Amino acid sequence: MLPIDMPDSPKSPIGSPAPAETPTTRPPVKSTAFGLPRNFLANRFVYLVISQRAHGLSIGVDVNPGKDCNFKCVYCEVDRSVLARNQQVDLAVMESELTSLLTLVRENRVRSLAAFANLPADLIELKEVALSGDGEPTLSPQFQQIVEAVVGVRSRQILPFFKIVLITNASGLDLPSVKEALKMLSPRDEIWAKLDAGTQTYMDEINVPDIKLDEVMANILSTARTRPVVIQSLFPLFRGQEPSDAEIDVYLHRLQELKAGGAQISGVQVYSAHRPAHRSDCRHLPLAVLSRIAKRIRTETGLPAQVY
Ligand code: SF4
Repeated sequence: MLPIDMPDSPKSPIGSPAPAETPTTRPPVKSTAFGLPRNFLANRFVYLVISQRAHGLSIGVDVNPGKDCNFKCVYCEVDRSVLARNQQVDLAVMESELTSLLTLVRENRVRSLAAFANLPADLIELKEVALSGDGEPTLSPQFQQIVEAVVGVRSRQILPFFKIVLITNASGLDLPSVKEALKMLSPRDEIWAKLDAGTQTYMDEINVPDIKLDEVMANILSTARTRPVVIQSLFPLFRGQEPSDAEIDVYLHRLQELKAGGAQISGVQVYSAHRPAHRSDCRHLPLAVLSRIAKRIRTETGLPAQVY
């Protein structure tokens, strides 16, 4: 699943300890870390980004570089008319790229990248390693192997610890291999699950999914009964329309349903389409509208909600 603050896909290996490949030898693409293309380090599977929702530096692993997804969100940034450069993850390359970026963080060399040079210290502290990318991570047949590999890299303690965050549209959380993989995560790791709608009609319009809202709800519920889940809700301005009050009423009811069913929801992230989507009729919802929705979440469900 593609997080909105994560740019385009990586292409070839990153700046590792090998001098010829160090990031500093490459020309900077932009002067700011915000909105950089994900391939600015020329990696294939692992990238570096400043993530609003992570509150700082995030290393992303493109778990599904083949761009497979069972949603077709109107706000998706992934251009599926362009053939994916990698259909699957080369685990050895991914581990090497991840190790290189963790080493960059450990050695306090993030500011050696031109785009990160002027960022304050709290922004260049590593907040997470995100399992995300150009397609839905849980649909990757390699999901279990990738989680195992990332957990394996963590066990080498290049850094004392890093949090792993799975960013998912929740559609594959019921798959046996995904459930097995999630057992490898620590209690400090997180799952961020997408819930953009209260009604099937609105979900069909915004997410254009191959599965039903009830299945997504069931997956979130069963996962959140075993470990806390963060709900990610993106509300776009689509064809000039914000989600109706009636839609938000039902969406809030969905959150209440999850809570009543025993779901542990540690928070709700409310945000909008930050980057231009491939559709020109999809825009960013005004902050005042997002704030109003977040306020309703807090007051009507008791859940913590933040606007990003
Ligand atoms: S879930 Fe939506 S935003 Fe995420 S990759 Fe699929 S289509 Fe794109």
